[in-house]
Amino acid sequence: MPEEFPDLPDFPLGEVWLSGAGPGDPRLLTVLALHALVLADDIVHDALVDARVLKMARAGAELIAAGKRGGRPSPHQRDINEVLIERARLGRRVLRLKGGDPFVFGRGWDEAAALAAAGIRFRVIPGVTSGLAAVALAGIPATTRDTNHAVVLAAGHRAENDQTAADDWQALARLGQPIILYMPMAQLADIARSLQRGGLAADTPAALIQSATTDEEKVLDSTLGTLSADALKTGIGSPAIVVIGAIAGLRHRLLPMMRSWR
Ligand code: SAH
Repeated sequence: MPEEFPDLPDFPLGEVWLSGAGPGDPRLLTVLALHALVLADDIVHDALVDARVLKMARAGAELIAAGKRGGRPSPHQRDINEVLIERARLGRRVLRLKGGDPFVFGRGWDEAAALAAAGIRFRVIPGVTSGLAAVALAGIPATTRDTNHAVVLAAGHRAENDQTAADDWQALARLGQPIILYMPMAQLADIARSLQRGGLAADTPAALIQSATTDEEKVLDSTLGTLSADALKTGIGSPAIVVIGAIAGLRHRLLPMMRSWR
């Protein structure tokens, strides 16, 4: 560390640190997340936390998988909260490590609220959220002065029996601002249809970025009207970020000179 770097906090016994792990590549961890990894006794991590990140853990730390992953059996949120509370009460230094940023579509709030209610001290460490990282690494700016003054981060997959979804997508389309979709795959065709009903043109640029910052990273350039079919055709899919809007059509100008993150 450079000499001028601020002091890093102690990790007291019995605390929980709720931290983002970034999109995958360990070099995109925050300094605080790395600090936590080398101090924690217990690391309770999501399925999406990259294996290369978990390798940074202190030798002897206990790794506890608590991933929620669409379609597969996964622990209930209540059980995950219980593990955090139980471990903290045992006087362990507990690192709760979540993909991307802990408070962006990651149930981090539920866990923080459960810790607060249980009287457990905790700290929140933001992370590089996959939606913003995936587009940037693909050469897609989240904003430019010429294209947009806002950007929507939206979850494609929502709680079941959510009847308001189609209307919501049409309302978002009317904003005329680019949309970055997390968990897009299950509903992609429906979402694309609703966005077009809401007024977005079928030829609106769209891109899908799979497994950003990993060896499986793939980028699919398409349009709103064809994205879902193109994804099926090419077999590109989860975990993925979809971006819809003029910004998605800009990357070709950068690609000749842009180095990959690797
Ligand atoms: N808290 C996380 C998001 C959790 S929701 C964050 O801030 O990034 C899980 C969704 O994140 C996945 O379905 C996918 O849409 C997205 N995601 C996470 N890591 C990703 C990656 N490396 N590449 C593409 N999408 C990713």
